[in-house]
Amino acid sequence: MLIDAHIHIEQYTAEEIPSLLEEVDAVIAVSMQLSSCEKTWRLAQAYRKVKAAFGFHPEQPLLSLRDEDALFEWIRCHAADMVAVGEVGLPYYLRQEQAIDNRPYITLLERFIMLAKELHKPIVLHAVYEDATIACDLLEKHQVNQAHFHWFKGDQTVVQRMIQHGYFISITPDCLYEEEIQQLIQVYPIELMMVETDGPWPFEGPFAGKRTAPWMMHSTIRMIAAIKGLTAQEAAYILMQNTKNFYQL
Ligand SMILES: [Zn+2]
Repeated sequence: MLIDAHIHIEQYTAEEIPSLLEEVDAVIAVSMQLSSCEKTWRLAQAYRKVKAAFGFHPEQPLLSLRDEDALFEWIRCHAADMVAVGEVGLPYYLRQEQAIDNRPYITLLERFIMLAKELHKPIVLHAVYEDATIACDLLEKHQVNQAHFHWFKGDQTVVQRMIQHGYFISITPDCLYEEEIQQLIQVYPIELMMVETDGPWPFEGPFAGKRTAPWMMHSTIRMIAAIKGLTAQEAAYILMQNTKNFYQL
């Protein structure tokens, strides 16, 4: 069994989606904003393997308060059809490109954390490096424990804090060629780990020039198994069970 714990399936073409889903037992399909939530919702209605998460991707300009309220209202109305709030978080990469204020993004993230708590759903976080510390502060403040830091990167202090709280991370195919991710796999317990593609985001190394798809996770699982001293089958089983339990699939 194979589950992609984080994919933007609504960004694939209608022709690509059926064959992509043949490679997996389920996908956690995250959303970017309201129109993306609507597309993801329709795909979840059409394909039982698509498990929807609704949110607002942080690496983009913020919404007006009116549009933000409309998004929250839409998510509340469709809460029965979603497995999580996501993806949400803080604009780390956008801040490397331009001088933008993180504070309104932090306010929005806090609002999403409160929404996850209100709806009793897990939360899918895009929060790397120093932003992970801010996310941890907010999660602790609101006593939200079901947190998944997707494609996580961060220093040892925040890694230890996340492990103590039992927060989950997911590993992307870049673990094949990124030493930083291999070191993270070494220290993070496999009991708190999942695998993902973040597709259609493209990868390098052995995946250069290839359309990102769930089959790439077989290589990710083999890398995790090698680092953890397990067989690929053992690692695959643990990672799949983690994802099933976390998202209550
Ligand atoms: Zn993503």
